[in-house]
Amino acid sequence: MRILIVEDSDKIRESVAQALREADYAVDAVADGRQGFIHAQTGDYDAVVLDLGLPELDGLSVLKKLRDKKIATPVLLLTARDAIDDRVLGLQSGADDYLVKPFALDELLARVQALIRRSQGKSTPKIHVGPLMIDQVNKSASVRGRDIELTPREFALLEYLAHRAGKSVARHELEQHLYDDRSQVWSNAIDSTVCALRAKLTVAGCPPLIHTRRKVGYVLQERAVK
Ligand code: CA
Repeated sequence: MRILIVEDSDKIRESVAQALREADYAVDAVADGRQGFIHAQTGDYDAVVLDLGLPELDGLSVLKKLRDKKIATPVLLLTARDAIDDRVLGLQSGADDYLVKPFALDELLARVQALIRRSQGKSTPKIHVGPLMIDQVNKSASVRGRDIELTPREFALLEYLAHRAGKSVARHELEQHLYDDRSQVWSNAIDSTVCALRAKLTVAGCPPLIHTRRKVGYVLQERAVK
């Protein structure tokens, strides 16, 4: 999953970015509202962490412009303690949640996770596909109760496919959501990660769940793709 942070305080932006990266998110971080809007309107993000008080374009305007453009990416607002009006206005303008500064990084992580889950229509952190279970809180996957050792990238890919189980996901979309602007993406990166994942699932006794959609990408589902 890929997150955008829009925050002008270097200290907060850097600590949030680091915490999210340590939790294996792909992260892009910008320091003003204009850059925030330019990045967010691509729609490549699974969530946006948006400060309200920003140079160039304030957070509320960024949010309104995104919603006007029908960009539905979940948005977590960062607000000051005394700014109740801003919070209300933010929620009314299409924000999904807010966090009052100063906040604990653990709480921010939990809220971002919950936000992404809700936006995908999943109320629980566990996703089941056949005998495979993906636990988004513990970032683990298991087959019939037995854990499978996955790299962060493999888990991220599996999690993304699991969110869209039964639907085809293009290679390009996977690249956009698994890699941030700092990453170098090799042309066969997605295919080789899928290959490694399939091998691990097979070893764990899982039937084939990741199917190739010719000329499209991949789909995670129990039955075979015609
Ligand atoms: Ca600010």
